[in-house]
Formats: sequence, structure tokens, C-alpha cells
Amino acid sequence: MRDIDKIYIDGQFVTPQANETADLHNPSTEEKIGRVRLGGLQDAQEAVAAAKRAFPAFSRTTKAERIDMLKRLNAAVAARVSDLTEAMALEYGAPQTFTRFAIPHAASSFLTMANVLEGYEFERRMGRARVVMQPVGVAAAITPWNSNIGFITSKLATAIAAGSTIVIKPSEMSAIQTQVLVECLHEAGLPKGVLNIVNGLGNVVGAELSRHPDIAKVTFTGSTAVGREILHGAADTFKRVTLELGGKGPNIILDDADLDVTIPAVLRMGFINSGQACIAGTRVLVPKHRLAEVLGRLKQEVEPFKVGAPDDPDTMIGPMVSQKQYDRVQSYIELGTREGASLLTGGLGRPTGLDRGWFAKPTIFTNVDTRMRIAREEIFGPVLSVIAYSDEGEAVSIANDTQYGLQAYLHGTDTARMQTLADRLECGRVVVNGAPHEPLAPFGGLKQSGIGREYGVFGLEAFLEPKAVVA
Ligand code: NAD
Repeated sequence: MRDIDKIYIDGQFVTPQANETADLHNPSTEEKIGRVRLGGLQDAQEAVAAAKRAFPAFSRTTKAERIDMLKRLNAAVAARVSDLTEAMALEYGAPQTFTRFAIPHAASSFLTMANVLEGYEFERRMGRARVVMQPVGVAAAITPWNSNIGFITSKLATAIAAGSTIVIKPSEMSAIQTQVLVECLHEAGLPKGVLNIVNGLGNVVGAELSRHPDIAKVTFTGSTAVGREILHGAADTFKRVTLELGGKGPNIILDDADLDVTIPAVLRMGFINSGQACIAGTRVLVPKHRLAEVLGRLKQEVEPFKVGAPDDPDTMIGPMVSQKQYDRVQSYIELGTREGASLLTGGLGRPTGLDRGWFAKPTIFTNVDTRMRIAREEIFGPVLSVIAYSDEGEAVSIANDTQYGLQAYLHGTDTARMQTLADRLECGRVVVNGAPHEPLAPFGGLKQSGIGREYGVFGLEAFLEPKAVVA
């Protein structure tokens, strides 16, 4: 049993003043594995006060000093990759097919930001003015349970690069990973108060950070519904906000696609992190004249997928994070059938042989109409909808016919055509032929997938305010 009973304020591990706890479960076994003591309002306020005290000195540190801190943080996190992998597997069943990429990416956020900072000029001339980019002030970061570590490290790295201090509220369901991470961040020796981490409930600690007058900026990753609440909370004091919200990514197979490489790439991004990812390409768009061929290949590739515990390196799909998430996925599978879609593979219930654990079957629906809720709403589980299209124009309009606009996927052989098509897609990022993640390029969403961008120079500037000095 793991008891996480401390939060991190002003460079110290302290006991929260609030006296509530939440249980932690292993989603592969449904067993209780620990308990986290939750911070409350007062804890959030103390963390903000610590970050506010640290801000004046930290905002005046030099670029070289902050690059040095980022490098130390990178080394400290990289040294604990295996502990972090274990914690992610234990706490939310993340398969190694995901953590193999996600954890090194989390550690390298610091190094990537150090490189961005190296090349960034904080001062430039514009006409008569000297324009200086200054840190926005004290920031708050609120993060979700899926890939919690990656979101904490990228937000923290950017705040440090900018010279902002920060209070982080991770998901209350990710306390074990957070604990390992805070231990390494503490060892890296940041100045007191620069980093503060308060476990707690969203509607208590998260809501307080979104409203607090001493917070200048909120950076949030999570659901669209909570993003909306945070935006309301931030409005009174006109906080700067970056919101990374939900998605319903189109995974577009073009008529010239080579299915030998395309089908594995479609499934990799469709079922990434067991489908529990904002960037999952859950709407598979297929040219009508290739539909039968594509459906045959999808079925053939998915049925041998290994669903199971994350400690098996061959596991492609792990459990859903919680009973609630399992029930949600089941209710969408039921809804799809009621809406008139047909099951190509998967369906209700657990996969054969898995009687315990919140495992859902990898499920693919066909005969999906773009008006169906399974094609419009974020399910956050291993459920794909195949939608047929007749020509390129229709593919683009189906892809754009959504409230979301985060990440889209194109699969084909004509690269010039895909560049043109990419320009017509309403989303923040387009991935061509399963290209690897690019941490220097901006990431974020259009429409109800969010506001603003993270990563690289765009991410850094979201933590800065330009000041013009005209002489
Ligand atoms: P969530 O929105 O339920 O919770 C996210 C965080 O917000 C948690 O820390 C939670 O405690 C906190 N929170 C809840 N209510 C709050 C409130 N009223 N005020 C302030 N904070 C509050 O999301 P989740 O279930 O943890 O994560 C899944 C969601 O996150 C999915 O919708 C997914 O698409 C989204 N997501 C988006 C991205 C992206 O980069 N766009 C990445 C990962 C996940």
C-alpha cells in the first residue's frame, strides 16, 4: 500500500492542512493500492503565496541560469525513468507501447526547452521601441491523469524557461507518479517556491487556482467541460489561459495509401494509450471504393491485439483508468449499436480471459454516420468509428465537421497533395504518414479543443508578456 501524505510547497514536503483522502486503485486488478491525502483551499493559497514570494528573484535570473536548471531537471527525471514507468503502469495501466515513448518524452521536455531558450532573444527593436519579453507572473498548471508526468514536465519546463514560478495541481488519480516526479524535481534543487505541487480535488484546489487573484496564468490540460469552468473562473481577473482540451481526431486514409504501412499507423494512433488520449485518431475516414479492403485489413490486424496488464511488453491495450471510465466506454459501445452502426470487431464486455480489471475490447464500428454521437463525442477508450467518403472534398468536410480541432492524421503516398490537404483541415496539428512527435512545433487545438499553444517558441511566448519601451 502506498500512502502519499505530503504535498510540496516552498521547497518542502509538507502535510496538507485539509484532512481528506482519496483511494488509489490498480486498474488491471481493481485492487486498492494506496491512499492520497488531499490538499484543500488553504494549501492551495499557501502554495500560491510561496510562488508569489519566489517570483521577483526568479524572474530576474539569467537565461544561462535557467538553462542550467532545465538541464539539471532533465538529468534528475531521466534517472528515474524506470520508477516512473512502473508508477504509470500501476496507477493507470499504461502499456509499455505507450510509456516507452511517453516517459523519455517527459524527461526530455526540459532539454527541449533548454534548447529553445538558448536560441530565444528576450529583447528586440521595433521602430523606436525596445520590446522586452517578460515572464507573465505566477502560473498555475492543472493536469489530467492520462500521461500526467508529461504534462507536468512540459508545463514546468516552459514556466522555468520563461522565468515564471508555478503551482501545479495534478490529477488526484496520479498521486504515485506525481510523488516519484516531485522527488526527482526536489533533488534537482530549484530555488524555494519556484515549484509547488498540491494534490487535491479539481473543484477545490483546481477551482481555487483558476480564480486566485495572484495567479497570472493558468495552463490546463483536460476535458473540454472542465476547461470551460476554468475559463469562467479565470475571467474575473483576466488571467492568461492555455487550454489543451478534448479531441475526436480524423485518421484519413487516402485513395493512394499503401495499406501495409497505413493500417498499423491508423491503429497505433487510434488506440494510443488504450484510446485514452486526446490525440487519438478515433474517426477513420476511408474512400468508399476501398472500404471492403480496409475493413478486412483492420479486422485482421486488430483481432490479435493483446489486451492485458501493462507489465507484459506485448500488451497493446491496457485497462481503462477507472470503473467510471470503463462504464463510460461500455455505454458508448451500447449507444453505437442503438444508433445503427455495425460492429466490425469488439463490442460490449471484457475480452475473453480477463475477468478482473477495467479492460474493454478494442472495438471498431462501421456504417457510421457523422451525425451519430459515437462519431461526434470523445469516448476516451479503444473505440473507433469508420466513416466512408466519396472524394477528397467530402473527406475534408467530414474531418472538419466536429466541435473539436486538435490533431488529424493523413495517410497516402502523394506528399505534395497531403501538404495541400493539411492546410484545409481545421486543427492545430496534422501528422502525415505516422510521422514521429515533434516537440519543437506548436501543439494545441482549434474550436473546443482549446485555446493557445504549447511547446517550442509558441509555448514559451505563452508564458511571456511583451513590454514596449518607446524612447
Ligand atoms: P478532467 O478535465 O476531468 O480533469 C483534468 C484536471 O482538472 C484534473 O486535475 C482535475 O482534478 C481538474 N479539475 C476538475 N474539475 C475542476 C474544476 N472545476 N476546476 C479546476 N480544475 C478541475 O480530465 P481527465 O479525465 O483527468 O483527463 C481526460 C481529458 O483530458 C480528456 O477529455 C482528454 O481529451 C483531455 N486531454 C487533453 C489533452 C490535450 O493536450 N489537448 C491531453 C490529454 C488529455
